[in-house]
Amino acid sequence: MASSSSLYSPPCAACKFLRRKCMDGCVFAPHFPPEEPHKFANVHKIFGASNVAKLLNELLPHQRDDAVSSLAYEAEARVRDPVYGCVGAITFLQRQIERLQRELDAANDLIRFAMCNHGLEPPAGAPAPVVGGGPLSDIYNSNTNGGGAVQGTGSYN
Ligand SMILES: [Zn+2]
Repeated sequence: MASSSSLYSPPCAACKFLRRKCMDGCVFAPHFPPEEPHKFANVHKIFGASNVAKLLNELLPHQRDDAVSSLAYEAEARVRDPVYGCVGAITFLQRQIERLQRELDAANDLIRFAMCNHGLEPPAGAPAPVVGGGPLSDIYNSNTNGGGAVQGTGSYN
């Protein structure tokens, strides 16, 4: 607590980057603190400072923090992956969900098959066991479109 309570406050990261005076009411100041210079640098590189200022001014003040978080995330992803940006991460995660859903379906099929072979009833709430046709063949031909949550992927291939 040795710092004096001078009236000087350092310019926000945006104004420092743009080499301009950080005025009272600077639209960037609440969201781009001086200790996070890379956050503004990325956002400026990808979206442009004037576009970001325009976007922030069009939003209500309580919406700006979320908007800046989203812009910073998107900008960082775009800097790392100039082709796909954050869509690359989204697509990767969607594929992972699809793969895990298939594995889960196969595991459920195996459980039902094993219980049928041992004359056990599946637990309450479990899907009905596959009747006829050989459940094991269904595992490898399983239709994974029943989930509903993982639709419309692959459009970025
Ligand atoms: Zn500023």
